[in-house]
Amino acid sequence: MQSSDFIVIGAGIIGLAVARALKRAYPEARIRVLEKEAEPGRHSSGRNSGVLHSGIYYAPGSLKAELCRKGREEMAAYHETRHLPLNRCGKILVPTAPEDAPQLTNLYRRAHENGVRVEKLDEAALRELEPATRSATGEALWIPDTAVGTPGEVLKTLSQEVRALGVDVCCHAEVAEIDVAARKIALRHGETISFGYAVNAAGLHSDRIAQKFGMGQDYALLPFKGLYWKLSTDAGFRLNHLIYPVPDAKTLTLGVHTTTATDGAIYLGPTAVPAFGREHYRGLESVRLPEAARMTRDLARMFLHDQDGYRQQAWQEGRRYFRRWFFEAARELLPAVKPEHLLPAARVGLHPRLFDRKSGALLKDFVLLKNSHSLRILGATSPAWTSAFPFARYVCAQMDSPVTSDQPPQDLTQGASS
Ligand SMILES: Cc1cc2nc3c(=O)[nH]c(=O)nc-3n(C[C@H](O)[C@H](O)[C@H](O)COP(=O)(O)OP(=O)(O)OC[C@H]3O[C@@H](n4cnc5c(N)ncnc54)[C@H](O)[C@@H]3O)c2cc1C
Repeated sequence: MQSSDFIVIGAGIIGLAVARALKRAYPEARIRVLEKEAEPGRHSSGRNSGVLHSGIYYAPGSLKAELCRKGREEMAAYHETRHLPLNRCGKILVPTAPEDAPQLTNLYRRAHENGVRVEKLDEAALRELEPATRSATGEALWIPDTAVGTPGEVLKTLSQEVRALGVDVCCHAEVAEIDVAARKIALRHGETISFGYAVNAAGLHSDRIAQKFGMGQDYALLPFKGLYWKLSTDAGFRLNHLIYPVPDAKTLTLGVHTTTATDGAIYLGPTAVPAFGREHYRGLESVRLPEAARMTRDLARMFLHDQDGYRQQAWQEGRRYFRRWFFEAARELLPAVKPEHLLPAARVGLHPRLFDRKSGALLKDFVLLKNSHSLRILGATSPAWTSAFPFARYVCAQMDSPVTSDQPPQDLTQGASS
């Protein structure tokens, strides 16, 4: 039987960043990353918009604001030092309704409090910077430090780097069962590995893995589908920046926005419509009836609970699954866009949102569950790609004195905390 001091489950951006942080902290440790797919980054980390968010939306002084600001700087530096494509185009935030004016003022103040560079634009300045968009109030915000990177390239480079550091990144290695008391993991293909400390960074599956560790029974991940449309080059206008609507004050959902990829292609989206499987990217792919039924029940409870205006959000986002309603949202930002300018895009991702079955509410933040020999990251949603490097160090700092796999197992079911 193989043994490792640290096992990291999942080779998305979080799993790889955690493996790198661990190797730096414990150079002698035997570290293994287990990934069920043929290569790292096949799920959220390789399917996102690649935006390095500035962090202006988050409460000043919050961990999320701090990790996002630091993460954006580190992720930009990572692209530059490795010569990976990075589009430092900045972002413009525009009100799409007159009622957005107070929220724009709040975000301007919040940007200052969070140490994010921001400038107010009047109608003339907006027209000069970005003639294709409109503001319902005549004002807008210009956030120069938002950038767009290349998630696929980052994943490839980072996995090569952690391998070069001595981390064993094992693909086709799906975690099937966990014997908590004996500290053993059984892989789907039959191999068993013993571990000293395990980190669960399994993204869309992290709730199930947590439950195999005997924790997080009250949490369930609900996947929401992020669909994009591509702007046709025949649209007759160019965009120089990312254009975002002012987010809803209660939910902070980003709304339909534009992303200019590093190859110049412009995407609109993503949506956040409910999906019925953890890998339900297309058609009925990966939909299993019992799980789909459980997800439908959880969605219905959320609808009844109506926390933070979820009902209105569900109605608004659900309609955007259909081209006609998506187009309506796009036109609020880009008045000259026509339905024929929206081309179907191959890009699609799933946002795992964390549902608390006890309260019936959707949680806004990630949850860490830990005991003395393992730690689980649940609900690492956007801006987790931006924040990945400082987030990984934060996760490592939360580990309770990791041990090597040679030390005897203890009672691991005690001491769970979030
Ligand atoms: C549509 C969309 C757009 C987004 N845009 C942005 C953005 O612009 N900026 C930003 O900062 N964030 C963005 N995000 C969020 C960001 O992509 C995610 O928060 C981040 O990628 C999460 O990384 P992860 O490593 O936790 O998960 P994942 O990338 O999903 O990695 C988890 C890994 O675990 C593996 N795994 C699962 N189960 C097992 C098992 N049993 N055994 C072994 N391996 C297993 C999976 O195969 C997967 O590779 C976006 C997300 C989506 C969906």
